[in-house]
Formats: sequence, structure tokens, C-alpha cells
Amino acid sequence: MLKKWIGKLLVVMVRPLRLFPALAEADNVRYKVIFLNNVFTFAGIVSITMGFFRWNQQPFLGAIDLVFGGIAFALLWILHRYKKNIELISSIALWLCFVQFLTVFFLATDSQSRSALLLLILAAAFYLKGRVTGYYMLAILLALVAGNHLIQIFPSEYNNLDILSLGFYLLAQFFIIRNYECLRESQTNHLKALNVDLEALVKQRTDQLAVANTALEFEKENLKKLSSTDHLTGLSNRHHFETVFAEHTPVTNRRKITDALILIDIDHFKKINDTHGHVLGDVVIQSVATCIKKNSRISDITVRWGGDELIIYAPRTTLKQATQLAEKVRHQINAMHIPSVGSISISAGVAVLHAGDTLSQLLQRADQALYQAKQAGRNNVYAGTLD
Ligand code: GH3
Ligand code: MG
Repeated sequence: MLKKWIGKLLVVMVRPLRLFPALAEADNVRYKVIFLNNVFTFAGIVSITMGFFRWNQQPFLGAIDLVFGGIAFALLWILHRYKKNIELISSIALWLCFVQFLTVFFLATDSQSRSALLLLILAAAFYLKGRVTGYYMLAILLALVAGNHLIQIFPSEYNNLDILSLGFYLLAQFFIIRNYECLRESQTNHLKALNVDLEALVKQRTDQLAVANTALEFEKENLKKLSSTDHLTGLSNRHHFETVFAEHTPVTNRRKITDALILIDIDHFKKINDTHGHVLGDVVIQSVATCIKKNSRISDITVRWGGDELIIYAPRTTLKQATQLAEKVRHQINAMHIPSVGSISISAGVAVLHAGDTLSQLLQRADQALYQAKQAGRNNVYAGTLD
């Protein structure tokens, strides 16, 4: 039983000062709430105890102590109810304590240790209200204590040395707090500088990353282009065309006017190669490609299908329009003069896309038309039938 009570008492002594839990969000406010919780509880208990003890010797002082004890508990309750007004409550409490401690200092002449209270109030002022209020309180305290000692309105029973040392204690407290502030300031500045360095580094790295990213995007685009382009002519390659066609056809099949495909093959190209060599053969392929490119629209896809076979894939184009285009290209190519080679000719087969067509079905029809063009003596355009 006794153990239990001692245990309870110890708990109350260790944690007697948090009657109401502090719940405010901001740390600064939270610490102030905890601090004031502790101070009001402690000050209330001490003031009421002191009030009872003092009552017999100095009823006036005893009454003051009891009143301040009551005020401390009242403030504790107000703090609990109105946590948001922490600044106002702490100001009221601070100045009330200031008055109480000064009253005790001036009136409780029998107590030799009463000056210690002034140190307490000063520390609380610095903590709760910051440097400026702390300085004001320090100045007022020093002026009142020293002034009263000189003119003795309230005989203090302290001698000159006591008052001088009290003055020094108060000043020492000022220096301790000032030093602590300087230390904190330098730490904050150091942290700020570190932060600035870090931000600069992050910015530098971000910029570097952005540059690298742009280069990478460029490379990616380049690679994509390379992988979809025929290296000799700059036209789309077979793989790219097959991919585009696969993505494109479902949309095309639903339209009224469908797409046309022109399959172009250079006439007697083997002979050109044999007579003038592969290098000039390449030049011939490039010249045909350039002419094809020049005559096609942006929406057309121009493809080097392989060897001397090239394709113009013309979306939303009728068989008639595509045949006209093929004729125009054939005519222009035929009119070209390629240095060291002379004039060349092409044959072309035209076909239009049918609903549900695969690429090979479409190509097959274009190839049949091309075969007919070749059969008809080359330098010709043939169009497949509509079915
Ligand atoms: P046809 O009129 O019937 O088309 O006869 P052709 O001689 O043109 O016959 P074909 O179209 O089959 O010939 C294609 C030739 O193209 C075969 C090959 O040697 C040549 N060839 C394929 N790729 C290239 C290339 O990249 N450069 C060069 N110079 N020649 C190529
Ligand atoms: Mg050929």
C-alpha cells in the first residue's frame, strides 16, 4: 500500500507539470504550451503552499500568494480551453508573475532567497517573448531593484553587495542567453549556407540532367528515324512501312475513299548495274527516289521496298488519281538525264486498298499490275481492277 502511494507520488513529482496534454500542431506553440502547463502547475502549487505558510507571519503577502496561486490555476484552465491564444496567455502570465515576484521581492523582507525569483521571471521572458521583451524586463528589474535600494521605499534588508551581486546575476543571465542566441544564429547561418550550396548543386545537377535528357531524346529520335529510314534513299524502309500500314489499315477500311498503292520498279536495272557499276546504280535509285519524293504529298508514304522497287502509298486517293500520279512520276523520270547513265525508265503497278485487305494482298494486286506494265514493254503504268 505504502509502496503504491510512494510510486504514485513519484509519478506526480516526475510528471506533475502536464495536467493537460499539449495538442497544438506547430512545434514552437507546442513547446510553449508544455512550458506554460508546467509553469502554471508548479507556480500554482508553490504559491498556494507559500500562501498558507506565510499567512501567520504576513497575512498580506500570504493573501497575495494565494491569489496568484489561484490565478496560476485559472491560467492553466484558460490555456487548456484556448490554446490558440497562447501568445496572449503567456504575456498575461509573464507580466502577472513579474508583478508577483517583484511584490515578493519588495515585501517579503524576511526571505533571503526571494531575489532568485527575478532570475526565473527573466529566463521565462527570454524564452516566451524573445530577446527584446527579455531586455525590457531586465532593464525594468535592474532599475526597480537598484532604484528601490537607493531610495528605500520598500526596505529590502539586502546590503549593497547583495544588490550588486543580484545585478550581476541578472546581467550574467543576459550574457548567457545572448551567447546562446549567437551560437544558434551561427548554426542557423551555417545551415543556411549549406542549404544554398545544396540548392546550387541540385540546380546544377538538374540542368546537367536536362541537357543529357535533351541529348538522349535527340539520339532516340535519331535512332528511331534511322531504324525507319532506308539508308540509301532516305525514304521509309520496308519494316517501317509494314508497321505504319498495320496501325493505319483499321481506320482506312472504314472510309469511303480508300488508299492507293503505286509499286514502282526501275526497268532493266540489272543492265544499268552491269554497264555502269553499282555506284552509279545507287545514284539511279537515289534519283528515282528524289523524283518520287518530289511528286508526293506530305500525307503520302514513300518507301524503298527493296532493290530497285519503290512504293508510293497515297491515303484517300482513288485508283484514277493514283494512276495519274504514277504517270506523272514515270514521265518525269523518263525525262531525267542522269550523268554517265543517261535516261532511264520505270514501270508502275497501281492498286487500291479493299476492306479487310492485308498488305500482301494489296501488294499482290499492285505487283500483278506491274507485271502487266513490264509485259507491255516497260516504261508503262498499269492499274489493277477495282475488285
Ligand atoms: P526489270 O526491268 O524486269 O525490272 O529488270 P531488272 O533488271 O530491273 O530486274 P530486277 O528489277 O529484278 O533487278 C533488280 C536488281 O537490282 C538486282 C540487284 O542486283 C539490283 N540491286 C538491288 N539492290 C541494289 C542496290 O542497293 N544498289 C544497286 N546498285 N543495285 C541493287
Ligand atoms: Mg527492275
